[in-house]
Amino acid sequence: MLQGKTALVTGSTSGIGLGIACALAQRGANIVLNGFGEVDGPRAQVLAAGEHAGVRVAYHGADMGRAAEIEDMMQYAAGQFGRVDILVNNAGIQHVASIQDFPPERWDAIIAINLTSAFHTTRLALPAMLAANWGRVINVASVHGLVASAQKSAYVAAKHGIVGLTKVSALETATTGVTCNAICPGWVLTALVQKQVDAKAEQHGVSNEEAKRLLLGEKEPSMQFTTPEELGELAAFFCSPAGNNVRGVAWNMDGGWAAQ
Ligand code: NAD
Repeated sequence: MLQGKTALVTGSTSGIGLGIACALAQRGANIVLNGFGEVDGPRAQVLAAGEHAGVRVAYHGADMGRAAEIEDMMQYAAGQFGRVDILVNNAGIQHVASIQDFPPERWDAIIAINLTSAFHTTRLALPAMLAANWGRVINVASVHGLVASAQKSAYVAAKHGIVGLTKVSALETATTGVTCNAICPGWVLTALVQKQVDAKAEQHGVSNEEAKRLLLGEKEPSMQFTTPEELGELAAFFCSPAGNNVRGVAWNMDGGWAAQ
């Protein structure tokens, strides 16, 4: 389905980004990985997912908090594969504290990485997508792009912001073959959330398993984590022909969280 296309997934060395990269590679897209930490393992996973289709995988380690590095990554991706057809803005970080205790430098970092980076990648990717009259921009927002939780001011502000950016991107491309949509997961058991599970286990003096149940019980009626694989399938749907006229949605996959 995506043979001959190239997908750039920010923050794809672990978690949701890696799940989406694997799902798109399975459909035949070449992949540009990005993110921190060990790269050989994630690269091997994506190569294995796309092996049947002869998928190629490149990597750029740009820090999504730095505009100049993002520009370098976009040029690198175009140099490797011709152009970026599918842009997945996924890199994100979290910090949990009340507003009066929130370190201003954490606020700036979260807004830069979780929101402003998507403005830069989108503005740099759109010209080639529009010239080809085909493209997909998929923003990994969060259920926190739709509703708020206490202690997460910067994250909730950034995620509401990226849902807004998604809608504007969708309107500006509405008469073209480029679509822009957001995915809004509830809890997904990645490194980002394990830190919050650990904090809960310590706070209540309970086991890892009990802390997971407490976390889910507060917000997610299904009492189940969404998986990176499930989110990868939703991203693949947006890239399929059935997604041609899906524009500007913020699609939650949240076990009923936002339905309450
Ligand atoms: P994760 O920590 O497993 O992965 C984050 C990825 O982003 C990693 O590859 C990391 O190296 C990369 N990254 C972090 N800072 C970066 C930077 N400055 N520049 C480039 N890459 C950077 O987290 P995850 O849970 O997979 O989160 C991915 C996205 O999904 C985030 O935007 C997050 O807000 C969102 N999300 C996560 C959940 C959840 O429950 N885990 C729920 C809703 C939304």
